[in-house]
Amino acid sequence: MTKIGKNTVARVHYTGTLPDSGEIFDSSKDRDPLTFLVGHGKMIPGFERELMGAKVGDKVEFTLSAEDAYGPHNPDAVQKVPITMFGGITPEVGMTLMSDLGPFRITEVGTEEATADFNHALAGKSLTFNVEVVEVRPADESEILHGHAHGPGGVMHDEPEQKQCNDDGCC
Ligand SMILES: [Zn+2]
Repeated sequence: MTKIGKNTVARVHYTGTLPDSGEIFDSSKDRDPLTFLVGHGKMIPGFERELMGAKVGDKVEFTLSAEDAYGPHNPDAVQKVPITMFGGITPEVGMTLMSDLGPFRITEVGTEEATADFNHALAGKSLTFNVEVVEVRPADESEILHGHAHGPGGVMHDEPEQKQCNDDGCC
């Protein structure tokens, strides 16, 4: 039986919780399983490491430090923005908005200014994952070449022979 390792394609169901509060921040339960090519930097670093050697039917639970997940929270990525800068939008705490510099969350709203946090919402947090391995198979040559999984849950190419893939999966 194939075990999860570099250049395998794994399909897993997972639930991610915040260990401090028990709050579920993400789960694949109501979706198709998460599909990924292992060993190509597609996942947060600790997630793959903890699953190495697992096989179909295995249930694995682990808690990652922020460094092994979405990295530390960078205080320099938090900025005060004058409310007039939001144009027609009234900023509210918890909103996620898009800017030229990428997405940010509103974490505070004052009378003149709002606080915009450009960190990933899970930066600086340890994360607990409950993972069930649904499928493991060796990746084929084209998947290793492209750096992503093909087929159900992976990247679908209409004309795999003619199209060039790029790394961000939008091929
Ligand atoms: Zn591809």
